[in-house]
Amino acid sequence: MRKPGKQRLAIVGAGPAGLAAAWKLRDADDIEITVFEKSLGLLGRAATRSRHGLRLDPGANYFRTDLPEVAELIHDQLSTNELIQINGDVDVFDRHGGMAAGDSTLNGETKWTYRSGINTLGKMLAAAAGCEICYGVRIAQVRWQRGTAAWRLTDVFDVDRGVFDAVLLVLPAPQAIELVGPEEADVAEALSQATYQSQWSFTFGFDAGEVTWPGDFYALVNQDRQHRIAWLSRENAKRNRVPEHTLVVMAQMQPEWSLVNFEEPAEQLALEVAAMIAELFGWGAADFRWLDVQRWRFSLPTGRADVDMLRAAESRGLYVAGDSVVGKGRVAYALQTGLDVAERIRGR
Ligand SMILES: Cc1cc2nc3c(=O)[nH]c(=O)nc-3n(C[C@H](O)[C@H](O)[C@H](O)COP(=O)(O)OP(=O)(O)OC[C@H]3O[C@@H](n4cnc5c(N)ncnc54)[C@H](O)[C@@H]3O)c2cc1C
Repeated sequence: MRKPGKQRLAIVGAGPAGLAAAWKLRDADDIEITVFEKSLGLLGRAATRSRHGLRLDPGANYFRTDLPEVAELIHDQLSTNELIQINGDVDVFDRHGGMAAGDSTLNGETKWTYRSGINTLGKMLAAAAGCEICYGVRIAQVRWQRGTAAWRLTDVFDVDRGVFDAVLLVLPAPQAIELVGPEEADVAEALSQATYQSQWSFTFGFDAGEVTWPGDFYALVNQDRQHRIAWLSRENAKRNRVPEHTLVVMAQMQPEWSLVNFEEPAEQLALEVAAMIAELFGWGAADFRWLDVQRWRFSLPTGRADVDMLRAAESRGLYVAGDSVVGKGRVAYALQTGLDVAERIRGR
């Protein structure tokens, strides 16, 4: 039911951008917000989950606060009790496994996360926003109703999720295209320019008595993009997350390798990936104690949506934010798009 005098806003996606927008609109008394989130957790590709007695971040590992408004949000507006720095550099490796020091400018910037997982950020934003969040609801259709000049949302079970004066789509562009349907051809075309790569992510628990992380760096990134592994990090660098007897290594795979192997069984691939790590680090064996896997169909954008075309739809209350409007997959950028779009929604 629409409350008198209130504009109803639906936010589709409780990732960094969606929650930042909800947070920024927390004091807008004339806007009633409902967030729809397909999963049971918060922060999307910056999710955290409990596995093997630990808190693991299978997507975004850390964020930077190099944008002033994001820095203010993280350091001044939200609680910093749980905020921690990740110590150690991100070094580089090449296709032959040769390692070298990483970019000194980037390594000079602080890498932030939260003690109990990066999605603490999502929990804090949602709590402060105070809006309704409908978990486990996957929206399938967002349709403009000319008669009522409003948007009707329907979920994948064909359940009517209500009529809204405005809708904010904050999910990877290929998924957003599916929602708007053929009637919004311009929006779909604008979004189609934001292409995404796919990525497998493996987290291994090794016995720290058997293998050793080969340096004091926090992570390694494959600079020439010719290795099958794109990123390796030592999750023990996140203070108080991992007990001393365990070495937790996260491997994010190269997009090409991920795409070719996207439908392959995870356990089989994990054996291959563990062997690659062992070879890179000069370990005799690659016996891991436990494993956690995540397959990201849409991990990072490789292109940027046409923002000018998207703006045209805003006059009818259809907004888009998130990393597809930036063209770069970063938590901070996604947060910024959420803060920015909230201002435009408020000014409507
Ligand atoms: C493997 C990996 C590593 C990364 N590493 C880093 C890093 O180290 N540092 C960094 O800053 N960034 C990193 N990123 C990028 C960062 O996670 C993203 O840029 C950021 O999460 C984008 O936020 P968003 O709000 O745009 O979208 P998302 O985080 O994708 O949020 C979208 C939300 O929409 C929900 N959703 C999707 N479809 C529907 C639907 N139909 N109905 C309802 N809900 C729906 C999703 O479940 C999700 O919660 C990484 C990403 C990946 C995948």
